[in-house]
Parts: sequence; C-alpha cells; structure tokens
Amino acid sequence: MDPITAFAIATLMMMLNGAVLGLIHRDLPESLRPAATSWRFGTLLMAGGCVLLAVQHELPAGFVLPAANGMLFLGLTAYWRALRQFDGWPDHPLILLPFVLGTVGVAWFAIVDPRLDRRVLISSIAWTIMFVSSAHILYAGRRRDNAMSRRVLFVIFVTLALFMLVRAGYFALSADRVTDILDGRSWMNMATPLMASVLPVVGTTAFLLMCSERIRRQWEHAASTDALTGLANRRTLTRVGAERLQRARAQRDPFALAIVDIDHFKSINDRFGHDIGDLALRHVADALAKAAAASALPGRQGGEEFVVLLAADRDQAQQQAEHLREAVRSARFRSGEQEVAITVSIGVTSTTANDDCLDDLLRRADQALYAAKSGGRDCVVLA
Ligand code: GH3
Ligand code: MG
Ligand code: MG
Repeated sequence: MDPITAFAIATLMMMLNGAVLGLIHRDLPESLRPAATSWRFGTLLMAGGCVLLAVQHELPAGFVLPAANGMLFLGLTAYWRALRQFDGWPDHPLILLPFVLGTVGVAWFAIVDPRLDRRVLISSIAWTIMFVSSAHILYAGRRRDNAMSRRVLFVIFVTLALFMLVRAGYFALSADRVTDILDGRSWMNMATPLMASVLPVVGTTAFLLMCSERIRRQWEHAASTDALTGLANRRTLTRVGAERLQRARAQRDPFALAIVDIDHFKSINDRFGHDIGDLALRHVADALAKAAAASALPGRQGGEEFVVLLAADRDQAQQQAEHLREAVRSARFRSGEQEVAITVSIGVTSTTANDDCLDDLLRRADQALYAAKSGGRDCVVLA
C-alpha cells in the first residue's frame, strides 16, 4: 500500500461515517443535535482535507496545501466545538484561532518559502492545541456522566496529540530525507493517514455512544425525579425507602420517615392561581432540600405532600422534623409584592421491630400528620 491508497481508504471510511451520522441525526433528541451536526461537519471536512492531500500533486501547491490543511484544521475545530456543545460550553470565536493561524502559516510555507518541515511543524502545533483542548473539555465534564465512551474519546485525543508531537519531531530530524508526505518509503507517511482516520472513524463511534449514554441518563433522571420540584418522585421514595428500611433492619441502624404536608395549600391556589401554587410548591421543595440532613432523602409524594427519609432514631427524627418545619416557615415566599406565609404540618415515625414494609411506616406517619392537622397545623407530631 502507498500513502495515496491509505488516504483514499481513510477518506472512504470518514465519508461513510459522516453518512451514518447524517442518517441517525433525526433520531437524536433536540438537545444533542447541535453537537452531532458539528461532529458531522468535522468528519466531512476531515474527509475533504484528506482527498486534497492525496491529489496534491495534480493541483498547484500554493492552492492545494493551504486548502487541504485549512479543511483539516476546520474539521478538528468542528470536533472541538461539538464536544463544547455536548457539555454546554458557550460558543467562543477564539476556538477558530488555531485554524486561522495554522492556515496562514501553511500558506506562507507553501507559497512564499516552500518548506515541508515548517508546514508539518505548524500543522502539528495547531492539531496538538486542538487535540489537547478537546481532551480538556472531555476531562472537565467527566463528573457529568463518568461514561466509558467519554474516557475512550479522551484517550484517543491524548494519543493523537502525542502522535502529532512525534510527527513534528520526525520531520524536523529528517527534513533532508523526506520531502513529500506521499512518499511511501517513510513509515511516518504511512502512519499519518491511519492516525488521521482514527478520530472520524473510532472517535465517531465513541461520540455516538456518549450521546446514547446521555439519553439513557436523561430518561433515568426523568423517571426518578419529580418534574415540578426536582426532588425524588414517589417511585424513587418507595424504592429507596424500602432499601433503606431493609438495610436498617439488617444492620440495626436507625431509620425514620416524615410526611410533610403544606397547610391550607388549596387557599394559596384559590387566592393566587395555580401557577403561583406551583411556584409555592417549588419554594417549599427548595426549603426542604436545603434544610434536610445530608443523610436524608426528601421527595415529593404527590400533590402538596412531601416525604423525607431520615437516617435517624426517634429523638433525632423529631428534631430534624422540627428543623424542616421551621425552615419552611422562615423561608419567605413572595407573589409579586405580597409576602405569602407558608407553613407545613409534619407526621413523623421511626422504625419498630414490627415494621415489615415501608407502608407500615407511611401509615403511622400519616396518622401522626392527621393529628398535626387536627392539633392546629404548623407543628410536628411523633407517632
Ligand atoms: P390542609 O392544611 O388540610 O392540608 O389543607 P390543604 O388545602 O393543603 O389540603 P387539600 O387536600 O384540601 O388541598 C390540596 C390542594 O393541593 C388541592 C390541589 O388542587 C392542590 N394541588 C395538588 N397538586 C398540585 C400541584 O401540582 N400544583 C398546584 N398548584 N396545586 C396542587
Ligand atoms: Mg395540605
Ligand atoms: Mg395533602
């Protein structure tokens, strides 16, 4: 095989990958489409750049070299932008800098002072900057998903950055021997098209897996979270509550549960409308989330009723519930100019030896809540 064939195969792979990405584009959720579009642009630009490199002897060097390198630089910029979009970084014109300076530099050393080693040095620097920057974006976002596909892509970018440094060194040391990047006697010239196709081919697969991992997480989040308040939903409370109860029984750890119900919530809806009622629900949810102990799990059970799972014994649970009640009472809620007083009543219970399931605790806490309502509201009653 010679470098031209290698470039041709690499280009074909890139084009096919770009086409696949185009086909599945409409299956991606709205939020991922901008990043996927940028990635596809990157892949097609890389393919275009490789075609121009392969046919460089058929066209005037002063045109084809800056054009080919410019397309490759722009392709890598598009990959870099795709990762920024994927992780929610805002667009920034400065990411075009390696493309602009690199293309001008290559044009200079193709037209004014034709020198292959300088062109390779400039393109290697520009590529390395973009590889390292892309790797940095991936690294900075690792906590968001901790996905294996993200790590794979990170390793690809770092490997390519290292390869670029080796390539720059190689051409600097063999400037008098290797004067043409299509000269197949140089192993570096065979390795370059292969390395150039790693990102559009393997990288695209990793990028798509990152997209699918993101989608999976979004579904998981939607299924476990209450859409209005962002707290755990009933389903999560039931699942986690049952797990924590079982663990508490097995390890003799304390476990308790509080049902928190907003007082006279119907009148907030009636006076200010349902939308303000929704804001009031979020307000109470935020107050509970802030005030809850680190080990506690607050969630929305439904309507204007919340449940807080507590890693606490009877006395601690009562104290924590008092703290929650006080936190809601003192968090100020406003509708326009008007301050609306919001209070909650809380029924609390802790585990006993007879509790088989979470429903036993919920029933007792509910009875305690009922007592709190009858007892005048804005108070805590222990079952
Ligand atoms: P109490 O002090 O006895 O708990 O009185 P209350 O008015 O809070 O209780 P009630 O059960 O009579 O009314 C609850 C109200 O909560 C009725 C319902 O319209 C309202 N509600 C339930 N879910 C939502 C919601 O998602 N948004 C809004 N805005 N209101 C809701
Ligand atoms: Mg209520
Ligand atoms: Mg209620």
